[in-house]
Amino acid sequence: MLGLTVVVKFIVDSNVGKLARWLRMMGYDALFYQDIDDDKMIKIALFQGRVVLTRDTQIMKRRLVTNGRLKAVLITDDAPRAQLRQVVRQLDLNCKVRPFSLCLECNANLVKRAKCEVHDRVPLHVFETQDEYMECPVCHRIYWQGTHWKAMSKELEEFASEA
Ligand SMILES: [Zn+2]
Repeated sequence: MLGLTVVVKFIVDSNVGKLARWLRMMGYDALFYQDIDDDKMIKIALFQGRVVLTRDTQIMKRRLVTNGRLKAVLITDDAPRAQLRQVVRQLDLNCKVRPFSLCLECNANLVKRAKCEVHDRVPLHVFETQDEYMECPVCHRIYWQGTHWKAMSKELEEFASEA
C-alpha cells in the first residue's frame, strides 16, 4: 500500500535487555520488562504482533514459534553490538527509521516541546545552546540534541554503515 510502512515492533526478553535501548534509539517500538514470565511475554507478543528477541532456546521450541504464528529471533551472540547487528541483518531493519522519536527508558513516543516550556527543567548551559526539545509523556524526561545525543547518533550512523 502506498505510503504505508509496516514497522516491526519488538518485545525484548530480559536476557537481551540491552537491545531495547538500541532499538528505541533507532525508532523501533521495543517493549522490555525486567521480570516477566515467558508465557506472559509470549501472550503480549501475540496480542500486539511483536517479534520476540531472546536467547532462550526453549522459547524457540514452542509450537507457536515453530508453526510460524509467533515470530521470534534467537540471539546468538553475547555482545550487545553483535546482537543488534544480528537483528538488523536478520530482519532487514533500517537503522534510522525514526531516530530519537521514542523515550529510551519507557518506549513512549516523545512529544515536541517549545524552548519556553522547558526553561526551568534543563540545565542553563543546555537552555542557552539548544533550541529543540522533546519530552517523554510518561517519565517526563526532557531530551535535546546535546553531546550525548550526538554521540549516540554517530554510533548509529557507524552502525548503519557496518550493517
Ligand atoms: Zn520516558
